[in-house]
Amino acid sequence: MKTRAAVLHEMELGRPYDRTNPLKIEEVELDPPGFREVVVKIKAAGLCHSDLSVIDGNRPRPLPMALGHEAAGEVVEVGEGVSNLQVGDHVVFAFLPSCGHCPNCQEGRAALCEPGAQANGEGVLLGGHKRIHKGDDYYYHHLGVSGFAEYAVASIDSLVKIDPEIPFDIAALFGCAVMTGVGAVVNTAQLKFGDSVLVVGLGGVGLSAILGAKAAGAKKIIAADLLPSKREAALAMGAHHAIDSSDPKALQELRDLTGGGVDVAVEFAGAVPALDFAFQAAKRGGTAVTAALPHPDARLQLSPVTLVGQEKALRGSYLGSCVPSRDIPAYIELYKTGRLAVDQLISHKMKLEDINLGFERLAAGEAIRQVVLFD
Ligand SMILES: [Zn+2]
Ligand SMILES: [Zn+2]
Repeated sequence: MKTRAAVLHEMELGRPYDRTNPLKIEEVELDPPGFREVVVKIKAAGLCHSDLSVIDGNRPRPLPMALGHEAAGEVVEVGEGVSNLQVGDHVVFAFLPSCGHCPNCQEGRAALCEPGAQANGEGVLLGGHKRIHKGDDYYYHHLGVSGFAEYAVASIDSLVKIDPEIPFDIAALFGCAVMTGVGAVVNTAQLKFGDSVLVVGLGGVGLSAILGAKAAGAKKIIAADLLPSKREAALAMGAHHAIDSSDPKALQELRDLTGGGVDVAVEFAGAVPALDFAFQAAKRGGTAVTAALPHPDARLQLSPVTLVGQEKALRGSYLGSCVPSRDIPAYIELYKTGRLAVDQLISHKMKLEDINLGFERLAAGEAIRQVVLFD
């Protein structure tokens, strides 16, 4: 079948993206779904900083690639060997497929699925195939999703069936922003009721972490970002204090607010000073978590003696340490009962044609979550 998709042919084209147009909207051919694959009619897809990191070359991927890794839609065709999904089911994409069989999946650590990571690195679906092409030229898949398109072929291990009552624009966000942000706080940092928490980097993921900290019963939520507009958004979503982490007095201010530091500090900014701030802000015995993806050459300097003498922990978090099939429905349930106000994350809704403008807004820090809507 034919579909329109946003395709990246060249990285590092530079800004403004609404002039350089790194993403080309093209008519491409989709192959039929193979074994354990389905066709999803995409209804909504979110613009995430990790897409931007591919566009600007911070996170290089094989090209040409059909971009987009946060999406929701409806199953319209099923391939062979599919028993858990039917035509008409509503689904959210997880940006890492989980095979369910590798040692990490069997330990409940789907975020570390080995065949999933390999497929994502190679830009193919979990079964090893590419299904998008233009003539004889096959395009790479972005994290098993390629959601900036009217239709996508996906492995069933990249999909989670959801409650059909949830609007698609909200549902899409659970696949990356909410899973990563809430999961980092709840799963990776294991925030306890009554803990204090610092969230550094207030994009869609960071603000999701604020919502998650609130839902999990954090006593004090401190939000940090360089941009005043982001700090205001965090306060509106339930943060108790907002600080500028680049201010030399910010660390002392935070320690004064918390009596020495936070129990849990989570960082999503993707800049080494932000992670350094989060690590320093964690109290003695506290935990710092990073879920950001800075350039692979970035290095954090830390004194091992603080790890020892202060028993601090520093942990990485991918996919919010989530098991998508377990956590996405659970987080959606929290949304339904009003305890996770994911709808507040959406700042813009747009058409596929305007996607480069959307990425320019994201790069300029002028948006929280922007969602492409399809008919
Ligand atoms: Zn993302
Ligand atoms: Zn696995």
